[in-house]
Amino acid sequence: MDTMLAARLHRTGQPMKLERVPVPKPRPTDVLVAVKACGVVPNLMNVLTHWQSWFPELPLPKLPANFGLDVAGDIVEVGELVQNFRKGDRVYVNPGLTCGSCPACRADDTMNCTNYTFRGYFGFGPDSQKQFDAYPFAGMCEYSTAPQHNLVTIPDNVTYEQAARYGYIGTAYAALRKANAGAGSTIFINGLTGTLGLGATLCAIGRGVTKILGTARDRARIERVKAMAPGRIEVLAQDEGKNVAEWARAFTGGHGVDATIDCLAPGTSGKFLMDAIYALRRGGKAINIGGVGEKTVMDVHWMMDNQIEFIGSNWFTTADGQAMSAMAAAGLLDLSVFEHVRVPLAEVNRALDGSLFRNGGFTNVVVVP
Ligand SMILES: [Zn+2]
Repeated sequence: MDTMLAARLHRTGQPMKLERVPVPKPRPTDVLVAVKACGVVPNLMNVLTHWQSWFPELPLPKLPANFGLDVAGDIVEVGELVQNFRKGDRVYVNPGLTCGSCPACRADDTMNCTNYTFRGYFGFGPDSQKQFDAYPFAGMCEYSTAPQHNLVTIPDNVTYEQAARYGYIGTAYAALRKANAGAGSTIFINGLTGTLGLGATLCAIGRGVTKILGTARDRARIERVKAMAPGRIEVLAQDEGKNVAEWARAFTGGHGVDATIDCLAPGTSGKFLMDAIYALRRGGKAINIGGVGEKTVMDVHWMMDNQIEFIGSNWFTTADGQAMSAMAAAGLLDLSVFEHVRVPLAEVNRALDGSLFRNGGFTNVVVVP
């Protein structure tokens, strides 16, 4: 295994090219993972085509580059200083790379690393290229290296394809953790049926959230979400034209919900975000993990009067990922709802066709070597 097949993007807007490249060598604290499934999130198409014009402050790796965010596979080699993992372990690789030496990392606050970078996706600062250089291969290839502290073990009852969906489920999990959402909580999910919204619903069911309210556009899909826990989930189609806050408050005796989780798709109006915030109770938390990109007007006086916290949250810690695996192992996180669409690595560009996501968040597109 000296060389491997890898897809690399050479120019923005052009198809990725399949190439034979040397298999990367794990550094002493890294492992080498044989990729079994690489998740494709709908936003990857945006990253590959529009990202630098939409968000110039979020750099892509220097081209040519390998992409692919959510990797699940087998460890086939361990660096000499790796502890607690061995060959044959089934792992999900949290793609959030951290530097280990900035003030945030040294304060055990690695999610706020100044060099935080998504391997195989994009970075958050000017030094992200250093992280891309350290981990040049991600998921759309046969093998990739990963730091030992980014590994999440996959339980026996979770398939590689299901684990390749951990990214957006984990993003939702972290939002629910920040909202302290659990037994006794009522939450409202904006964009219930998308990749993030379905992840939020699955995690909320698993964490014991008492009442899960949500809206989305597609009526058939929202009924499908409701059927996952009919006694605990209440849904509203956006085109019903109801006042969302009044609708949601009616389930709480008028007090309002404990948290809103915004999972809206890129291009959605920020108005929907503020409409949901009005559903919060006094002291409630609004957590945004969605894709609203436009500048959004917020009713900051009402939010001050009502002690509303607005929290921007992205991605999740490796500990969150391990907690999700524990939930799945215990049967609390049901990953059986996904319809997998497997695209061979040799046909990788086909995985970027948005029409594959024909059932919204229920569709799980994975590239398989
Ligand atoms: Zn750092």
